[in-house]
Amino acid sequence: MKQVSIEMPLVAQCSVVECAYNTDSCCHARAITVGSGVHPGCDTFLDSAPHSKAEQRTAGVGACKVSACRHNDDYECMTDHITIGRDSNSVRCLTYQQR
Ligand code: SF4
Ligand code: SF4
Repeated sequence: MKQVSIEMPLVAQCSVVECAYNTDSCCHARAITVGSGVHPGCDTFLDSAPHSKAEQRTAGVGACKVSACRHNDDYECMTDHITIGRDSNSVRCLTYQQR
């Protein structure tokens, strides 16, 4: 496998424990994608009982499609870290701030 080394904001915490990538309220995907244009949801969310075994890894934010967020520049997240959690029935970036 080829490797890339890039700087990304970290997913510091995620309270969505039913997601396949979640263990101990941390995300262990390599990277997540946030947003569906307007809504800052976690597009990588996967509701699944078997969970990721990659517990040493902390996910980064690979891309974010929410240009209305003040942390977004050119469809990338520019803050240091984000938090993901539930807001009503949706799984969303709680670090989102409208411009
Ligand atoms: S950040 Fe998204 S992909 Fe990662 S554990 Fe939370 S809901 Fe799942
Ligand atoms: S803080 Fe803003 S730019 Fe960063 S992932 Fe969340 S919604 Fe996207």
